[in-house]
Amino acid sequence: MAPIDQPLVDGHGRVATDLRVSLTDRCNLRCQYCMPAEGLDWMPTEETLTDDELMRLIGIGVERLGIQDVRFTGGEPLLRRGLPNIIAATKALRPTPRTAITSNGLGLKRTAQALADAGLDRVNISLDTTDPETFVRITRRDRLPDVIDGLAAAADAGLAPVKVNAVLLRGINDEEASDLLRWCMKHEYELRFIEQMPLDAQHGWQRDEMVTADETLTRLAEDFRLTPLDGRGSAPAEKFQVDDGPHTVGIIGSVTRPFCGDCNRVRLTADGQIRNCLFAREESDLRAPLRDGASDADLADRWRVAMAGKLPGHGINDPSFLQPTRPMSSIGG
Ligand code: SAM
Ligand code: SF4
Repeated sequence: MAPIDQPLVDGHGRVATDLRVSLTDRCNLRCQYCMPAEGLDWMPTEETLTDDELMRLIGIGVERLGIQDVRFTGGEPLLRRGLPNIIAATKALRPTPRTAITSNGLGLKRTAQALADAGLDRVNISLDTTDPETFVRITRRDRLPDVIDGLAAAADAGLAPVKVNAVLLRGINDEEASDLLRWCMKHEYELRFIEQMPLDAQHGWQRDEMVTADETLTRLAEDFRLTPLDGRGSAPAEKFQVDDGPHTVGIIGSVTRPFCGDCNRVRLTADGQIRNCLFAREESDLRAPLRDGASDADLADRWRVAMAGKLPGHGINDPSFLQPTRPMSSIGG
């Protein structure tokens, strides 16, 4: 095994150790803050990294560049057929990384145990509402029971603590924040609210429509006593103890409370592009050199160069901000 000679350091002293891998840009939901109702032009198969190509890059990340956490996302990662093998191959790397998926939970009822057996450590499941009609309104699909079953299956498979990601949308589910928290606490899921970001394919995000972290906290404080907990580190969620505990709730204020100064993330898209930030307007192609026969050392060097130029912040709050061309579903959220 090659030593980790030079980690992924950027020009502002941050070190990337958390790799987000998008396994596909396809999805079986159409969440309105992410995709249009008709879906998108999916990435052609020949542009998508094969399992072997993907594992070569993840291996370089872990064994040469100091990646310690690998999260599989998309699109919907459960739609990638080889997922259990990809997880097992990732866990076989040394030093062994922690693994996680971010998923909408559809089909997890069937696969949770196999994923856990393959070595999956954690899951984050996206659920914005427990009301069936609101679920259809947000996701444009009538699949709430599948998500609920998926969550239960994840917990049963030992993937606890199961985390739930929720985005609040004004006039749609923003009144439900407390109900969702109660529901998650009842089921022992750890809820985190994420501010809506300008990453939808339709470019429909509007700042004044966004439910801010402050608003969410104000709403929750009407029903619960929230005590801030220390120790956020490089995690994006600010955590609060709910009432006297033991439950907690997280708030991810990506727009109004940016955490860029502590960011330790790097992203690999399903077509082999390194993105040093969710909001980056440039990406670095590793697929072409990989298919042209580049060595591991060369690919590692290219990856380091891609990270070195990471900007200090996402710039959403600057007047000159431009939304990235790639939507969240293709970057890997
Ligand atoms: N399909 C999987 C899922 O929904 O969990 C993984 C991919 S999805 C892009 C990852 C996360 O990004 C989800 O929790 C989703 O709610 C969130 N997300 C998508 N679009 C968003 C946006 N515009 N602003 C904030 N979060 C968003
Ligand atoms: Fe699919 Fe996830 Fe986007 Fe919803 S947020 S459309 S589940 S990729």
